[in-house]
Amino acid sequence: MQCPTCGSTDVYRSRRRWYERLFNWLLWFHQRPYRCATCMSRFWLRLEPRVWRHTLKTRFRRVVLTWGWYGGALLLAVVVAWVMNLLHQKSQESNPIYDAAMKQGIAKKLDETDLTPEQKKAAEEFMKQNQK
Ligand SMILES: [Zn+2]
Repeated sequence: MQCPTCGSTDVYRSRRRWYERLFNWLLWFHQRPYRCATCMSRFWLRLEPRVWRHTLKTRFRRVVLTWGWYGGALLLAVVVAWVMNLLHQKSQESNPIYDAAMKQGIAKKLDETDLTPEQKKAAEEFMKQNQK
């Protein structure tokens, strides 16, 4: 590695400023800042494609690892909510059938009793009122 200003090979990685860090993350991923120890000039050097491809890959993996958890949790919550909704709908659908079966059972029992027709009528009225 050589300094483009004086040609010295005494160069070291320069610290990135916050905005450089941001741009480096987004756009300048293929280069890194360096500083020359001889003339103190600062310059950006292109990385080898093999190197910056690797950094992009690891960066992508890290993003997936951190946000993949949130995405997975969100997906799970949606699926659970959907299943709960489906079960709720099913139970509501089965309610009228259950009610009809109960009604029939009670009506049958009412017929089997030795109540007077007036008492049966009163009982049916009472049931009707309660079923509302
Ligand atoms: Zn230099």
